[in-house]
Amino acid sequence: MVEDIRNLTLQELEKNFQAQGVAPYRARQVYAWLYKKGIEDFSLMTNLPQDVKALLGKYYAIFSPAVEKVLTSSDLTQKFLLRLKDGTLIESVSIPASSRLTVCLSTQVGCRYCCAFCASGRLGFRRHLEVSEILGQFLTVAKNVPDGRISNVVFMGVGEPLDNYDHLLRAIRILNDENGVRLGARKMTVSTCGLSNRIVSLSREGLQLELSVSLHAATNEKRSQLLPVNKRFPLETLMPALRLYAQATKRKITFEYVLLRGFNTTVEDAQALVALIRGLNARVNLIPYNSADSRLGFEPPVKLEVLFFKSYLEKHGVDVTLRMPRGADIAAACGQLVWKTADSRCTNY
Ligand code: SF4
Repeated sequence: MVEDIRNLTLQELEKNFQAQGVAPYRARQVYAWLYKKGIEDFSLMTNLPQDVKALLGKYYAIFSPAVEKVLTSSDLTQKFLLRLKDGTLIESVSIPASSRLTVCLSTQVGCRYCCAFCASGRLGFRRHLEVSEILGQFLTVAKNVPDGRISNVVFMGVGEPLDNYDHLLRAIRILNDENGVRLGARKMTVSTCGLSNRIVSLSREGLQLELSVSLHAATNEKRSQLLPVNKRFPLETLMPALRLYAQATKRKITFEYVLLRGFNTTVEDAQALVALIRGLNARVNLIPYNSADSRLGFEPPVKLEVLFFKSYLEKHGVDVTLRMPRGADIAAACGQLVWKTADSRCTNY
């Protein structure tokens, strides 16, 4: 069976070429076509000899996701609903902001972690994305945005990135490769619901990736209600793993904290948060919950709650930002686009 060539690192392709009697530098040429020029057809790789093109066609393929739907928000955020080769749906998002263009990529079809306010968790877990499917999103979005220049990548779409650890890391290394996309590790953010064991592994990869953690509550009692993963990796294991990561990479940890009306916005919640992250090189990103779908069971905070929470953290020396949700008018949280589409076909939910 032919394999998607974008599953292979440059070193693997070089090794395969060598075994097939092709000079390794040809692999670098192929990589340039794939990742610098975004070419998806071996026959268009004009500096390759015919026999190399024939060999590529025999052993490899390129399965690009099909763009099923694109929604554009009034703030110019774009959501791409993409259909994979097996018919499953994922979504990617492009988020323009002054000189940056950030792309949010999915790493799984569905997700097994069932975070309380996340539409993706309601989809259930279907499968991990292949390396080529993670990269395929990047390249498809690049083709569909003005001038194609993506400055940042966040792995915050559908799925828990660290649950698909090996494929995620391979995709990151290809994006990072100077022969590939050449995107700096510091321009890539991995978002996690808190898989402590994988955070420890990530700290040993020698990559200065930005790490973003869905915290949302600073006590085990409340956090477990929002993120079931907290029962397996409670704050007692998560925080040491994050301290290790910050120390090993010299990167600041970002804590995502979705403000849910009356649930995690009290003075006790703010006190617990200040105590939890004391001494850690960290910032807290407050996100007022955006209830695009009432089935998720939470309400947006009132303005006073948001202002109180932010100023409390500031007064206690916490680096805090308030992020207004982007693309709110085209489906709020990750997974909602897929969820809405799935709903129209699914009668079991
Ligand atoms: S927030 Fe992330 S980890 Fe949690 S259910 Fe949604 S996609 Fe999965």
